[in-house]
Amino acid sequence: MRAVVTGGAGFLGSHLCDRLTAEGWDVLALDNLVTGVDSNVSHLMKNPKFRILRADVSNYMDVPGPVDYVLHFASPASPVDYLKMPIPTLKVGALGTHNALGLARAKNAKFFLASTSECYGDPEVSPQNEEYWGHVNPIGPRGVYDEAKRFAEAMTMAYHRYHNVDTRIVRIFNTYGPRMRLNDGRALPNFVFQALSGMPLTVYGDGKQTRSFCYVLDLIEGIYRLMMSDEHLPTNIGNPQEITLLDFAERIRKHFDNPPPIVFKPLPQDDPKRRCPDITKAKRILKWEPKVGLEEGLKLTLDYFRKTFSKK
Ligand code: UDP
Repeated sequence: MRAVVTGGAGFLGSHLCDRLTAEGWDVLALDNLVTGVDSNVSHLMKNPKFRILRADVSNYMDVPGPVDYVLHFASPASPVDYLKMPIPTLKVGALGTHNALGLARAKNAKFFLASTSECYGDPEVSPQNEEYWGHVNPIGPRGVYDEAKRFAEAMTMAYHRYHNVDTRIVRIFNTYGPRMRLNDGRALPNFVFQALSGMPLTVYGDGKQTRSFCYVLDLIEGIYRLMMSDEHLPTNIGNPQEITLLDFAERIRKHFDNPPPIVFKPLPQDDPKRRCPDITKAKRILKWEPKVGLEEGLKLTLDYFRKTFSKK
C-alpha cells in the first residue's frame, strides 16, 4: 500500500509518516518546507519505504505510480504562522485540497483531510460536537485558516458525493508534542521557549480562555483508526481535558527550577474563548480515546524541547 502525505515534514505530517511506515506503508511525503523542516523526517531517510519531495501542493501535482491513500496535512497551523502567510494558508486549504482530491480521484485512492476545530470558530456551545456548524468571523485575521478549512471540508464532501471518492475528515483539536517548532508562536512552544530563555511567560488576555491539549501520539492513533474506518463525515479527535491558559502556563512553569513569572498581554482578535472536543463519536465508532495525561505529555515534550534548545 502506498500513501502520499502532504505536509509530511510538518509536526503532525511527520508523526503520521512514522506511523504509516511502521505499519508497512510506502510513503511519499510532499512538503514545501514553509513551516515543515527536513529534520522532522531525517530519521526516516534511510528507510526504503520513505521518500520526500519538495513540492507546493497548492500547485498542480503529478505523482508517478500507483497511490492508495492521499492524506492532506499541508498547511500553516499556528495563528502566528497563518497571520504571516495569509494567502498561502488560503491557497493550501483551498487549491491544495482541490489538487490533493484530484490526485486521489485520478489514482482511485482514498482521501483523508486534516481539518480543524477552528471550523467551530469562537464556539457558542461547549464541548463542541460534530453537529455544531460553528461561529466563524470570515473576514477576521483567523478567517484565512478557518474558512480555508471549511472550504476544504465542503470540497471533500463534494468529491465524495459527486465523484464517489472514498474520503475521511478529521477535526483536529489543539495538539502538542515533540517536533513542534519552538518559534511557531503557539502557547506551548512560546511558554517553553520563554522559560528556557529566562523570560516571563506571556499569557494573553486574562488567561481564562480554555483549550484542550492532546498528546501527538494519541492524536495519530485516532487518525490512523479513522483512516482505516469507513466514516465519511467529520470526526473530532482531541483530548477533552479542558484547561484555562493561565492554569496551563502554571503547569508548565512548575517544570522549571526557577519558575518564571507570568505576564499578561493583549488577547489577539477573535481568539476563541473555549475549546473542548466532544469525542463521543470517536469513542463509539473508532473505540478511541486519548491515553496520555497532560503531566506525562508535558514531560515528554519538555525533554524534546530542552534537547532542541541546547543545540541552538
Ligand atoms: N496564548 C497565550 N500566550 C502565548 C500564546 C498563546 O496566552 O504566548 C493563548 C492564545 O491567546 C490562545 C491560546 O493560548 O487563547 C492557544 O493559542 P495557540 O496559538 O496555541 O492556538 P489556538 O488554539 O488559538 O489555535
